[in-house]
Amino acid sequence: MSFTNIQIDDALLRAISACGYVAPTDIQRAAIPAALAGSDIFASAQTGTGKTAAFVIPALQRITQPATTRGRGPRVLILTPTRELANQVTESVRNLGRFLRLKSATVVGGVAYPPQLRMLERPLDLLVATPGRLMDHMENRRADLSRVEILVLDEADRMLDLGFVDAVRTIAAATPSSRQTLLFSATLEGRVMAIANDLLRNPVEIRLSTVIDRHEGIEQCVHQADDLAHKERLLDHWIAQEELTQALIFTATKRDADRLAQTLAARGHSSAALHGDMPQRDRNRIMERMKMQNLRLLVATDVAARGLDIRTLSHVINYDLPMVAEDYIHRIGRTGRAGATGTAISFVGPGDWVRLAGIERLTGARLTREVIPGLEPRQQEPRRSSGGKGKATSSRSRSGPPGRSRSYGPDRAPVTGRGPASGRAHGAGRSPSAARTPRARP
Ligand code: AMP
Repeated sequence: MSFTNIQIDDALLRAISACGYVAPTDIQRAAIPAALAGSDIFASAQTGTGKTAAFVIPALQRITQPATTRGRGPRVLILTPTRELANQVTESVRNLGRFLRLKSATVVGGVAYPPQLRMLERPLDLLVATPGRLMDHMENRRADLSRVEILVLDEADRMLDLGFVDAVRTIAAATPSSRQTLLFSATLEGRVMAIANDLLRNPVEIRLSTVIDRHEGIEQCVHQADDLAHKERLLDHWIAQEELTQALIFTATKRDADRLAQTLAARGHSSAALHGDMPQRDRNRIMERMKMQNLRLLVATDVAARGLDIRTLSHVINYDLPMVAEDYIHRIGRTGRAGATGTAISFVGPGDWVRLAGIERLTGARLTREVIPGLEPRQQEPRRSSGGKGKATSSRSRSGPPGRSRSYGPDRAPVTGRGPASGRAHGAGRSPSAARTPRARP
């Protein structure tokens, strides 16, 4: 299937081609036709799968058609959990909308209000926003959502994790009930399912291949680390590898990110920190340096790294393991993007075994234990009572960086179907059993 088989405007097709996209990715193949047909969508899709274009293309196609109602507010509203992701979506809108006459704006926190107020006063086709700042504007009656035809919830699971559940509901309630809603999320369970039940109407459900399959281009391994000094030596080993062209290094806290970035810089490495306490201007500048390959090592916290799209990233290093197992998937998905390969390395400190077990439970695979000669851990790995199920791999000893030895099974075609919600009850809760009974759209 190629993009030309999809019924979209010529200007969009030209932009897709100018972006260098030859064929739609799995998520695009499943989501774009359904969205163009007017269906609500409930899709599981990680970053790196082309999910942004999967909603931006149908959204822009809608804008090529006459508006259903008169007014100045946006016809498409895209909500994202973080500023970085909002910026990435904005870039995609700009690239794919380059041959359209398109009035778009981006409203995120951490930047001055006046330019945003000016943008919101003008007529708009499309608005990209983070929920917190959009709520601020709504409370001051600066944002008019009465004309929204398409509402996109990007990385909905993350939005809920960050505490935006009420904001998302309030924002959705301010849009017309006749709107089309496209929800994308890494997982489709739990709270995401609950909000989908409330906000989506008879959605097409798209489940891409399992979490594990999705990272088949990424080789993953763990190193047992006795203490901080051991972690530093392990990091030195990896940084010395030539094949590491650019790395994203995750730490648990902002302070650790600053400290590690400074230590690396003091040792002559090209490095910088990225975290939520930094002014947006500085964060943007650092992102640009990464994209231009003027920076080799970026030390970041989870929130700051959300939505980063750096194609040249060869390695992700979990200097500290994430608190939440799902974040492991998001972190390693920063490498191996758009069909490229990548390496993900995790350091497991003495208190991290429970977290590692959580990650292995989620991915369904036991991660390879790597030992670097000269950097062997002093302690034995603790025995796990429940044991890791899944595809076990033995400890290996090696001198250089690991080769690409892991394969996570065949790529599966996306599974689509109807679910989980039936009728739409904006803002109102419905019983789970009622919500799971699919009903035809009126
Ligand atoms: P996303 O999952 O939206 O973060 O996209 C990951 C990367 O894939 C981005 O750099 C996109 O520009 C790129 N991409 C999106 N769609 C395609 C496509 N059909 N072909 C090749 N690359 C794509």
